[in-house]
Order: sequence, then structure tokens, then C-alpha cells
Amino acid sequence: MTLGADVVVVGAGVSGLVAADTVHRAGRSVIVLEARDRVGGRTWTTSAWGAPHDLGGQWLGPSQERARAWCATLGLPLFPTWTAGANALEIDGARATFYGSIPKTSWLALAEVELALRRIDRMAARVSWADPLAHPDAAALDATSVASLRDRWLRTRAGRALLDVALGAVFGAEARDMSALFLLAYVGGCGGLRRLVETEGGAQQDRFVGGAQGLALALAARLPAGAIRLSCPARMVNQDGAGVVVTTDDGPVRAQRLVLALPPAARARIDLGVLPAAAQQLTQRMPMGNAVKVFARFPTPWWRDRGLSGSGVSDVGPACFVIDDSPADASHGALLGFVTGDQARRWGRAPEAERHAAFAAQLTRLLGDGPAPDAYLEQDWGADPWSGGGPVALGPTGALHAVEGARFAALGRVHTAGTEAAYAWSGYIEGALRAGERVGAEVVAALE
Ligand SMILES: Cc1cc2nc3c(=O)[nH]c(=O)nc-3n(C[C@H](O)[C@H](O)[C@H](O)COP(=O)(O)OP(=O)(O)OC[C@H]3O[C@@H](n4cnc5c(N)ncnc54)[C@H](O)[C@@H]3O)c2cc1C
Repeated sequence: MTLGADVVVVGAGVSGLVAADTVHRAGRSVIVLEARDRVGGRTWTTSAWGAPHDLGGQWLGPSQERARAWCATLGLPLFPTWTAGANALEIDGARATFYGSIPKTSWLALAEVELALRRIDRMAARVSWADPLAHPDAAALDATSVASLRDRWLRTRAGRALLDVALGAVFGAEARDMSALFLLAYVGGCGGLRRLVETEGGAQQDRFVGGAQGLALALAARLPAGAIRLSCPARMVNQDGAGVVVTTDDGPVRAQRLVLALPPAARARIDLGVLPAAAQQLTQRMPMGNAVKVFARFPTPWWRDRGLSGSGVSDVGPACFVIDDSPADASHGALLGFVTGDQARRWGRAPEAERHAAFAAQLTRLLGDGPAPDAYLEQDWGADPWSGGGPVALGPTGALHAVEGARFAALGRVHTAGTEAAYAWSGYIEGALRAGERVGAEVVAALE
């Protein structure tokens, strides 16, 4: 039997669901095809420990207006990330504790990191995420890796290590994995790198009381029963003058318009037919970052009583940063480690007992002797078949030139949503919502 609707959306992440909601509210019919057996995509909350922990996206910043507006509309309360107390650091052989978001390491390293951050943010303010090639130095910046830029701008090992930690935390990647143009355009679209690495006043300021997947679950609940087809990957897309047909294992789905709400590389698993060169490149040249989230549980957040925030940065690993992830009611203590880039690849190859022992040892180095964790949770996004990595798609050298014109454009009746297609806050839940709302309105306007 052929299913049919005005619009079919591929991907029930936040972006696809808000696009579907926009279509539905405009009085048009919509079907959402989702490969997994759940909605939420890169947001995924577990209650395995009796309280929510986010295995994927989790924080909201103060200037993420659409996400905050949707939380208010859907009745999803937020609470501030725990920051009280001293933070810990292990960088370039030095161990220390510090207050605020800039670690206390050698004065020289600190001064040059501060200078590099200012330089990045000053330059980023002049590079448009929507049109990075409009920058007069776009060709040179796209030919330069962030690693080259880092080594030119930072002389101390500690300074370079601190920048690497920041890049790991934001992109799940190594400095060599991105072009300077991509870094500047991406952070420019979010208001600067400093905002992305900070907790209070920055992108890590608030958490969802019930977990971030609540956004997708609440959006899904607004759609008519049966509109979302779970465990139903889109395999092939054909379009002609009359419409679009999506082939799935359960049969074809016909619509007038299609929204692809996926990361660029995930498109490669769908046969989209003959594509223009830049659209082909989009599936090949913007790989995902590599991130593992690991959680250690304790009966209480004991570090708080010792005047420690539970936050720490590290160039030793396995986590590049650690943060207090205890639930809003502190019914137990939890520390979250973000393992990224090369460390994430190493993590994926190590046996479970070794992985957890390495994380426990890192917590002891950062926070001192305390109770041993009584359980662990982890999610390796690099091994996730439908995301292929995380948190976001990267732009290695040359990529932004190779995909020019394809990142946001519709291919006939096939429209592009997903956080990577947001004009601002790309890579974040905020960007996913913005892209979904924009493309939802675009397809409604395009319906005959
Ligand atoms: C570890 C990690 C930490 C993060 N931290 C934060 C954070 O703190 N704050 C923040 O704002 N953002 C964070 N993010 C990023 C944020 O989660 C994403 O930007 C956002 O969820 C992306 O939503 P999306 O709808 O664009 O894409 P996705 O969530 O990736 O949704 C795409 C959907 O398409 C589905 N799909 C793929 N292929 C097919 C197919 N062939 N057919 C049908 N369905 C398919 C996938 O299963 C998925 O459900 C993080 C992400 C990760 C992984």
C-alpha cells in the first residue's frame, strides 16, 4: 500500500519534528520517517538511574531564543548547570584548581589563549556561516587547518593544549580536522567561541529538568497519531514533476515535498538519484565529529561538600572535560566526561573495564580521593549507525568551497533542514529548531 501526505519528513530529530509541526499547523498532512525506534536523534535521555541523564545534546544557553521559546510553549522546565565551587585542571603536566571559566595555568599560556580567543571571535564576527565564501580571505582560510592557525598563534604547549580542549568540547574533533574558515564561520554563527565554551552566560548554562529528549517527545505528541513511522529508514528518493516518492522497507511514501532533516553525511545512506556535484560533495566532505559521553554515578555529589564544582579540563584524558551532571534534585551524584577526537577513537577500542578504570582514575586526579563510582553509563556517538558521530558535522580544509551552494538549497522538491542547515546556532538544538521552522515554512509556501 502506498502511504501519502502533502509533505514527508525524513528524520525525527528536533529539526524534522519542528518542520513537521509547522506543516501540520498550516493544515497540511505530513508523515515523518525515522530510522531508529525512537524520536530525538542526537538528543536522547535515559532514566536508567531513576533520574534523567542526557546521552546526547543537553545544555541550552541564554541567547538560544527559539529553544527557550519552545521549552516555554511545551512546558519543559530548565535548571542551571551546577557551577558553584572551584574547577580543576590538568594541562601540560600541571594540576590546579581555579574559579570561573578561564583556567589558571602559566601566565604566558593564559595570556596567549586569551589573545587567541579574542582574535578568533573578532575574525569570526566578520565571517558569515550562511555565506562564508563572501569573506575576502575565504580561500586562504579554507586552505588552512585550525591546527596550523593554533601553532602560528600559540607558542606554549599549555596554550595549545587548552585550545585543543576547547575544540574537543565544542566539535568532538582535533584541530587538524577543521579548516580555519569553518571554525570562524561556525563560531561566528553562534556569537563567538568564548560563548560556546562558557557555562554561566554561555552555551552550557542550563539543563532540561526532564532531559533534552523531552523536546522531541513533546513535539512528536503534537502530530496526529500514526504520522511518525519509527524503525522506517528512507532508502531511496525519486522525484518528478508530480511529486516525490520515498522508498522504505515498508513500501513507498508519496508526497508533494520532502524535507531531509539529517546531518549531511547521513544523506549518503539514501539513494537520492543523480545530484549536482556540490550536493554530492555535501555527503562526502562534511564528516561528523567523534564524541563519547561517559557518566559515573555516586550516592551523593560529594565534591560539592569539598568546595569543588565537579568541572575540570584535561589534556590527559580520557575526557577533555568533566562536569557535574547530578539531577536537578541531586537524588544522586553524577559526573559526566566528554571524550572526543583521538581519545574517543581510543575509547572505542578499549575493553569496558579499562575504559571505566581510566575515567575513574581521571576523576581522582582532578577531584582528589572520594568514593568510587557505583555505576557507569556511556554513549559512543562515533559508533552510532544513524548519526555516524557527533556532536556536529565538521568542515575540513576545502570543504566549504566544495559544497558551495548545497548546504541550504532545495534540490527540486527535496528541502534541507537539520541543525547543519541552520543560518545561526548550527550544530546546536537551537539551530535544529531554527532550520526546522524555516524549512517547514518553505515547504508550506511551495505546496500547490
Ligand atoms: C554528544 C553530544 C552532545 C551534544 N551537546 C549539545 C548540547 O549540550 N546542546 C545543544 O544545543 N546541542 C548539543 N548537541 C547537538 C544537538 O544534539 C544537535 O544539534 C541536534 O539534536 C540535531 O538535531 P537534528 O534534528 O538536526 O538532527 P538529528 O538529531 O541527528 O536527527 C536526525 C534524525 O534522522 C534520522 N535518520 C538518519 N538517517 C535516516 C534515514 N535514512 N531515514 C530516516 N531517518 C534517518 C536519525 O536517526 C535521527 O533521528 C550534542 C550532540 C551530541 C551527539
